Amino acid sequence: MLEVAGIRKAFGDHEVLKDISFTAASGSVTVVIGPSGSGKTTVLRALNALDQADAGVITIADVSVDFGKKVERAQLARFRAQSGMVFQSHNLFPHKTVLQNVIEGPVIVQKRSKAEAKSDALELLESVGLGAKADQYPYQLSGGQQQRVGIARALAMKPKLMLFDEPTSALDPELVGEVLRVIKDLASQGWTMVIVTHEIRFAQQVADQVLFIEGGLVVESGPPGKVLVDPTQARTRQFLQRIL
Ligand code: ADP
Repeated sequence: MLEVAGIRKAFGDHEVLKDISFTAASGSVTVVIGPSGSGKTTVLRALNALDQADAGVITIADVSVDFGKKVERAQLARFRAQSGMVFQSHNLFPHKTVLQNVIEGPVIVQKRSKAEAKSDALELLESVGLGAKADQYPYQLSGGQQQRVGIARALAMKPKLMLFDEPTSALDPELVGEVLRVIKDLASQGWTMVIVTHEIRFAQQVADQVLFIEGGLVVESGPPGKVLVDPTQARTRQFLQRIL
């Protein structure tokens, strides 16, 4: 479903991603861990082409882009539509209801009928436990509920791949669980996901593979039972000791 080959990215003369390669099977969950500043968010943003990589090829399902070459606009739009992103904080439209937030993309961008988008959105809101909140405004919701709306909004675009950038790091501790539960549900429904998180216990439960990134390189990757429990690299071990 996802193949990342030789991604590089510099900001000015700061080479942030040096050579990132990995693959993820359809329906699998990849958790990306690593120290602050190691390039995790930059990897996710490259996967969605929010920041285009300088070099490397990314394939998501049947759309492949070589970022070392000039990328046509239409091809870039097709590529971007393959994935949905959930950010640290939700970025919901404050003047729109929950339902309006979720149908905005499908109706405006994908030109789907309002009736169909609405019925899909209500189903999605139900699945993230917010069926009763459709007509409320973001400010009426808790941070965890807002983040779940953010997830429903990304799902509404029917992406092939879901990307999560530290989806619980801006939440009060008591609200983290409800968001992680929703992400776990998505995993069991077979969504293909790449998740940047510091929640190691969650990673152990949900990941099929864990990538430990440091200094813009994948230092170690493998199943969570290996990378998180008995890593081969000293740097992975040191990182885990610091955060656990
Ligand atoms: P992480 O998610 O692992 O904390 P990031 O991917 O956010 O790391 O950042 C990696 C490095 O790239 C950091 O040194 C950060 O300052 C730098 N960086 C990220 N985005 C930009 C940008 N838009 N312009 C300049 N530097 C950036």
